[in-house]
Amino acid sequence: MTFTRPIWAEISRNKLIHNFRLLRRRAGAEAETVAVVKANAYGHGLEACAQALAADGARWFAVTCVEEAVALRAALGDHAEVQRASTTEDAENTEKNCEAFGPRILALSGVWPGEAEAVIEHGLTPSVWEPEHLELLEAAARKRGSGAGSVAVHLEIDTGMSRQGAQPARLEPVLARLGPGSPLRVEAVMTHFHSPDHAEATAAQIRQFVTAVDTIVRSGIRPEFLSAGSSADVLSQTTASVTELARTIGARRMVRTGISLYGYPPHGGIGAELQPVLAWKARISSVREIEAGTTAGYGGTFTARRRTRLALLPAGYADGLNRLLSNKGWVLVRGQRAPVVGRVSMDQSMVDVTEIAGAAAGDEAVLIGEQGAERVTAADLAELTGTIPYEVLCAIAPRVTRVMVG
Ligand SMILES: *Cc1c(COP(=O)(O)O)cnc(C)c1O
Repeated sequence: MTFTRPIWAEISRNKLIHNFRLLRRRAGAEAETVAVVKANAYGHGLEACAQALAADGARWFAVTCVEEAVALRAALGDHAEVQRASTTEDAENTEKNCEAFGPRILALSGVWPGEAEAVIEHGLTPSVWEPEHLELLEAAARKRGSGAGSVAVHLEIDTGMSRQGAQPARLEPVLARLGPGSPLRVEAVMTHFHSPDHAEATAAQIRQFVTAVDTIVRSGIRPEFLSAGSSADVLSQTTASVTELARTIGARRMVRTGISLYGYPPHGGIGAELQPVLAWKARISSVREIEAGTTAGYGGTFTARRRTRLALLPAGYADGLNRLLSNKGWVLVRGQRAPVVGRVSMDQSMVDVTEIAGAAAGDEAVLIGEQGAERVTAADLAELTGTIPYEVLCAIAPRVTRVMVG
């Protein structure tokens, strides 16, 4: 892809695949690992990431909504390398759906009016929990003459996050709609852990989940998967009891991994084995010297204490460089740290290169990534701006071209 304004993000295919394989190994051969590629693959570029993962054998993807799912289906259309590596009979339905449509695509945030038709047309799999979700899907399925059990859904249970999912005590109206003859088939029962780093909170959620699964199974539903756990659970492996529960009801465990696919552990820092996938770079537009006492940027929040060399970068908050990095952040130039001076503007920012001999227009500046022996990570920027690596990565704007590298 060509771009002329020199700011871009390099996405490493090899690192993405390395992380994916690592997570799959950690999840175990019995489990199905869903590659979470919502929000433009956490800012890494949906199309290229999903294609690379599908080519490496990813059979399940998750996005946030049907709109993203339709875009993903289009991206995967020609890359539907259906893997037949499955060894269990339970995967039969997955196989059938994969044969018809390519990899499976889960939409994590339910179904909105006007989306049910696309779910059926593109073989998408929505999470559901409101009776309204079921009504919308049933109506669309009947209109297309879809047979009983032909539309797979993942029934979400609210086990304590209080965000989405059917509350265990209020499952009846949902289950009542899913009896024999419904075009919908509960392929998975899913839940989401809110504090995977707190064993007690997760244990309490698992207890709720066990009760809900019991109610669901006793109503005659036979899910193929119990879907619970994100990167944190896969890496810490503290939720093995869900795998056990799945076994006792003849189902398989499903895990949904997002942030660690992109090389970040969920709780800060850099994991020894994970490899950050994204590097964010720009080229210095120009360099100027200002005298001591001169200010730089909006509001004059930086005053030079000495003669100072400033480099201009085509990277502003509209590119996703957080304005909270004003007078706080740093980038790498010629393998050295260049502090951000003055306020980050919408489209540009300035860094102090007084100490960096030879720094000149055209030099590569690394906003996230490695240069020489130095490194700056999304976790570093998150710490400086009071947020999490997820947000730093998602904030990199669409106008920053993503370039897939090896
Ligand atoms: C985003 C999301 C995930 C992935 O979480 P990570 O911490 O990025 O691994 C899993 N499940 C649900 C429901 C999500 O919304």
